[in-house]
Amino acid sequence: MSLIQKARLKSLWVMHYDCGSCNGCDIEILAALTPKFDVERFGIVNIGDPKQADVLLVTGPANHRNKEVLTNLFDQMPAPKLVMAIGTCACSGGIFHNCANVLGGIDKVIPVDVYIPGCAVRPEAIIDGVVLALNKLAGLAPVDDEEEA
Ligand code: SF4
Repeated sequence: MSLIQKARLKSLWVMHYDCGSCNGCDIEILAALTPKFDVERFGIVNIGDPKQADVLLVTGPANHRNKEVLTNLFDQMPAPKLVMAIGTCACSGGIFHNCANVLGGIDKVIPVDVYIPGCAVRPEAIIDGVVLALNKLAGLAPVDDEEEA
């Protein structure tokens, strides 16, 4: 494992994008960052610049309006990069799946590495997903995380 790879495992930088959620899952991401759940103990820092992000956290379903923004953010991230679908809406469209303009889960637009279902998803599940993402970066997790999340 290279030095950069080792360093990245100790300081994962994440970026959050709300694709059009009800904000329930966004609040749970904030909760995961607060001292109570404290994902920063894993070296995780929340940032706003895709060019410096290792992981893209997405809440809400993909739709015709946000698909270009989502693709744009993903394309700006340097490799290796991971995408986490946070909440049932991001995983499959959730309660919005039959709505006009909705495409479904975000994997209809960009590749997803870790799926974290739940409505709203609990901070503990987000932390579990982060550990899966870390294992994936370390080459320890299987390629298909869909069944495990
Ligand atoms: S999964 Fe539930 S809480 Fe999360 S964005 Fe969808 S409706 Fe809201």
